[in-house]
Amino acid sequence: MIRVRKPAEPPEVLRTKGARSRRALSAAYSRASRGYETGAKSFTFDPALYAHEDVKQSLRVAQHDKCAFCESKFAHISYGDVEHFRPKAGWRQEEGEPLSRPGYYWLTYEWSNLFLSCTLCNQRFKRSLFPLQTPTLRARSHKDDVTAEDPLLLDPAVDDPEASISFREEVPYAVEGNARGEATIRILGLRRPELAEQRRKHLEQVKTLRDLIEIGKEPYAARARDLLQRMQRDAEAYAAMTRAFLR
Ligand SMILES: [Zn+2]
Repeated sequence: MIRVRKPAEPPEVLRTKGARSRRALSAAYSRASRGYETGAKSFTFDPALYAHEDVKQSLRVAQHDKCAFCESKFAHISYGDVEHFRPKAGWRQEEGEPLSRPGYYWLTYEWSNLFLSCTLCNQRFKRSLFPLQTPTLRARSHKDDVTAEDPLLLDPAVDDPEASISFREEVPYAVEGNARGEATIRILGLRRPELAEQRRKHLEQVKTLRDLIEIGKEPYAARARDLLQRMQRDAEAYAAMTRAFLR
């Protein structure tokens, strides 16, 4: 996981239709908040807005065609899911506990809340899990302040994930056992075997290039240096692991 730098200005569809929908959702909640809390009433969200092609395209560029969480390149095999950092339709503080409603409905079309994610990070792992370090600070409606929350999940647009999660070989670990790093690895399944396998293969290439540089035979060493430089850039898959290995 690395820092994601999104353009400050949201795509137009979020500024216009998204902002209107947010006002409509907030007004609906204010009229019948109890119903939305019990689940008797539920919101309808419009993926044509939050997952609009312009939103996806802007996120694709900002994230270099990688999953915001596991840094896998997926553009060649899938379009990716537009993922809500704070879950829009209900949240869980702990795995296995019932869904708490109504969720962060007012952030459904909020630029700061959107990322592109691979299907596994989103649907198999994160889903509606959104634990806070201090659960009493939870924002429960559009009237509350989310900036007062202290999420356990690292926000790649706000936090520097590499300060909290590093790697031993291909295995991620929380730096000095910090709670947010641990939680993020667990919530997103960043130690899942399929991902470890991909990272291991990637690391083998990194090691081979490093060996070529050490042997020092030109022009191969120079080529290896170039390639290794490139593999550490944000745009490359598993850049955080590559950088951690070479540090
Ligand atoms: Zn992923």
